[in-house]
Amino acid sequence: MPTMQKPIYTGKAKDIFETEDPNILRTYFRDSATAFNAQKKGEIVGKGKINATISTLLFELMEDFGIKTHFVKQISENELLVKRVKIIPLEVIVRNISAGSLCKRLGIEEGKVLKAPIVEFSYKKDELGDPLLTRAYIKNALEIADDETLDKITELTLKINKIFKEFFLNVGIKVVDFKLEYGIDKDGNMLLADELSPDNFRFWDAKTNEKLDKDRFRQDLGKVEDAYIEMLKRVKEGKSKMTNAKTQEKTFSVRVQVLPKADILDPQGQAVEKALASMGYKGVKDLKVGREVVFKVEAESESEAKNKAKEMCERLLANPVIEDYKIEVVG
Ligand code: 5GP
Repeated sequence: MPTMQKPIYTGKAKDIFETEDPNILRTYFRDSATAFNAQKKGEIVGKGKINATISTLLFELMEDFGIKTHFVKQISENELLVKRVKIIPLEVIVRNISAGSLCKRLGIEEGKVLKAPIVEFSYKKDELGDPLLTRAYIKNALEIADDETLDKITELTLKINKIFKEFFLNVGIKVVDFKLEYGIDKDGNMLLADELSPDNFRFWDAKTNEKLDKDRFRQDLGKVEDAYIEMLKRVKEGKSKMTNAKTQEKTFSVRVQVLPKADILDPQGQAVEKALASMGYKGVKDLKVGREVVFKVEAESESEAKNKAKEMCERLLANPVIEDYKIEVVG
């Protein structure tokens, strides 16, 4: 539940509060939904907690790929702690497939796979309806970013797009387009900010092209809540696929063969040898009874896995005074 504390900023779907730490803010994700610059208003039941969780999982994904973000942690179903940043008032939009305002502006059909991803900038200004900007507007009229910053933002946004496209395709989702916001922290670092959710992405099912994002609300397509629930499911599926792939990549199968040393008396071996002779098997000599230990071990490389296994043999798996061991590692 929202507290009695007053937000320092109330957005269209989130409230932002200060915390005891001046560098950390708390964002509360509401169920409210707006479209067409808040001309259409409504509520999507359960959206707040779904978007808070999807954002958490996707910010973590970004951090895994070395993208710096404002995300600190999720503290409740609807709330995240984030680093305080000064938001650059640009809506950075990347498009892979034609939809929304691109189709309106250019008079082209929805669903055209663009020759290459497009990065565009809009002015984050509700009163003006977030107008599309040229670089000259940004640099020379608004003076909110220079060429170097815009190049950096473009490069980073294309990298993020590549990560998202691959991540979502793996769970049967096409990333049509999305909007990002960047901010500058107290140390001057540029961090990916705002949220990452079906509110600011267009997601289509890769097989059916079914819309699984806020367009269901914008266009009155129905099953709005279901789309958000489905996207949370797919994001979770994508994350667990990644975790599995990661552990599989770094897991090695180890086979350790332990045998009594050649010059060591092996009573068990001698007993078996005797039993075989009594059964009529003649000419069986130097019989040793050993054991095989098999396991999987996490390691960065085959040689690290072998070193780990060797250490295990010395300390536990074999008795190096009376036993020899042979290690086999399969990647
Ligand atoms: P379009 O320009 O086609 O309306 O939107 C492109 C993409 O950016 C869509 O994924 C849309 O959800 C996102 N987007 C554009 N403007 C806004 C905005 O003001 N708020 C949010 N949350 N997303 C936006």
